[in-house]
Amino acid sequence: MTTDAATRPPIDKKALLAKYIAERDKRLRPDGNDQYLRVAGTLAHYLEDPYTPRVEREPKTDHVTFAFVGGGFAGLVTGARLVEAGITDVRIVEKGGDFGGTWYWNRYPGAQCDTASMIYMPLLEETGHRPTEKYAHAPEILEQCQRIGRQYGLYDNALFHTEVESLVWEDEQNRWRITTNRGDSFTASYIGLGTGPLHVPKLPGIAGIETFKGHSFHTSRWDYDYTGGDPRGGLMTRLADKRVAIIGTGATSVQAVPHLARVCGQLYVVQRTPSSIDVRANQPIDPDWFASIATPGWQKRWLENFTANQAGGAAEEDWVMDGWTDLSRRIRAKIMQLPREEMTPRNMLAAYEDSDFEKMEEIRARVDAIVADRETAQKLKAWYRQLCKRPCFHDAYLQAFNNPNARLVDTDGKGVERITEKGFVVAGVEYEVDCIIYASGFEVGTDFTRRAGFDLTGVDGLKLSQAWAEGMKTKHGIHVHGFPNAFFVQPTQGANLISNVPHNLTEAGATIARIIRHAQDGGFKRVDVTRQAQDAWVELLLGGPGRMLGSPDCTPGYYNNEGQEPGPAAKLAVGYPAGATAYFRYLDSWRNSGTFEGLTFS
Ligand code: NDP
Repeated sequence: MTTDAATRPPIDKKALLAKYIAERDKRLRPDGNDQYLRVAGTLAHYLEDPYTPRVEREPKTDHVTFAFVGGGFAGLVTGARLVEAGITDVRIVEKGGDFGGTWYWNRYPGAQCDTASMIYMPLLEETGHRPTEKYAHAPEILEQCQRIGRQYGLYDNALFHTEVESLVWEDEQNRWRITTNRGDSFTASYIGLGTGPLHVPKLPGIAGIETFKGHSFHTSRWDYDYTGGDPRGGLMTRLADKRVAIIGTGATSVQAVPHLARVCGQLYVVQRTPSSIDVRANQPIDPDWFASIATPGWQKRWLENFTANQAGGAAEEDWVMDGWTDLSRRIRAKIMQLPREEMTPRNMLAAYEDSDFEKMEEIRARVDAIVADRETAQKLKAWYRQLCKRPCFHDAYLQAFNNPNARLVDTDGKGVERITEKGFVVAGVEYEVDCIIYASGFEVGTDFTRRAGFDLTGVDGLKLSQAWAEGMKTKHGIHVHGFPNAFFVQPTQGANLISNVPHNLTEAGATIARIIRHAQDGGFKRVDVTRQAQDAWVELLLGGPGRMLGSPDCTPGYYNNEGQEPGPAAKLAVGYPAGATAYFRYLDSWRNSGTFEGLTFS
């Protein structure tokens, strides 16, 4: 495979930019996020859990010290840190049938993490687990979630297949009341919210979607009964005589397609916008090597090393060497080539742009080098800057199109025209299929309360949806004024390190555990963030460089609100201005100081 820059002609930046804009314009549509269907009503069956049967149980009416909404990484790491701090009375409420969150639902064939396991999988050191490969596959990550649940005793009190319906602050008793769709009405001294950003599947709003008479499902509810096979890569032999369409070519589809192409009688990969597909180079983790580095404190050191290389500015030796650090390394190298006196913000941005053009040219050259059919190769090329859409990494996706039974159906940016009883229509041509798989992603641009499925009612009846009507406002992304004893576990308004979300969560979890230990030790019943402290934090954030992702020049997608004006709330979807490394250091000293400046304990 030749992707050597030396063999490629020089880049015509002007022509390339014009091509990027033309491809973007083709895809802009007035309905933005509204083009997607909310999975509800007659479509609700797309949400059913195919993995775990629902177990009947009596409603809970008791009291716990800490209730956490969401049994993914956020709930697990916060729960673990609370237990370590001696707060063992933790109840996790989870809509899935087990712990895992994203990794509970996403069991599609080939599901794998794109961030290196050494830093992505939480609490490796605490659980003593050695990741088996550089980029772990989903079953191993799910097992790590279950391992954390078992080790910290979080299963004992957990409520699965349970959706929270309301969270109401009871001021006189200094506690929260939680009600659920299973008839529970229990109370908690403290609550944690870790519902995750990508957990509500969405379907494309294609006319006729409900008329299809064949089989269909969303990738986050993979129907192995229909396909055969299993999440560990077992062959989906039941598809051998089937015509299958997968709609969407984002990070999920890129991982699933090679497995489908291996078995389907006929596979149609239906594309609206191609993803950029960089090298994966996965490899097993050598136990001897791991033993040599896994000395006490190893995961913290690795996390810090990744963050420094990714978002800290200071160039350190790169231990992680994954797709994300490669991206930053290249940009930094380009900027460092500038003579010192020319290191102006403008020149630095231009250097960044050059590095991006080069990278994307490499990625496009890789398509040509792998895909045999010229026309297919041309259509698989991504015409936008790399961070316009979620970058993908795979060593079998492009290759899958060389398989005679796999066919790319490119919609030239327009999407599927119609779904019929028998299949789907693109450019006036009907393709008859037995099965449609929707790899159409998850709700992103919607409000917190819509995605969570509940609102919070805080002091004096204030709703979270009111408090955040003009955008999210917090201190550290964790505390919200008017909502005492409530803690949010997520990256925004904190480090905002999206290339390794679990790191944000473990730091938030550790902070919360420290605060609650302090409250318990001091006999305090109520922890509030002051209005002043929250306002000061928001002001600090707004003084920063703004959002990294989401340029309107980009092809539409969830990074840029489908190309629509994002509104004022988007300005608040930012992180600590000095970057992730600085934030984690700051947070560490804030929680260790023991004064918890900005919070009141009473
Ligand atoms: P995405 O939202 O990234 O992709 C949805 C796909 O559906 C896009 O290709 C989109 O096209 C396409 N689509 C939407 N509407 C239509 C239509 N009407 N006709 C045809 N195609 C359509 O969802 P994914 O599930 O792939 O990924 C979601 C996120 O989950 C990722 O961005 C990533 O953050 C995370 N993820 C992470 C993984 C990892 O770490 N390994 C693996 C998988 C997912 P268009 O691009 O034109 O909008």
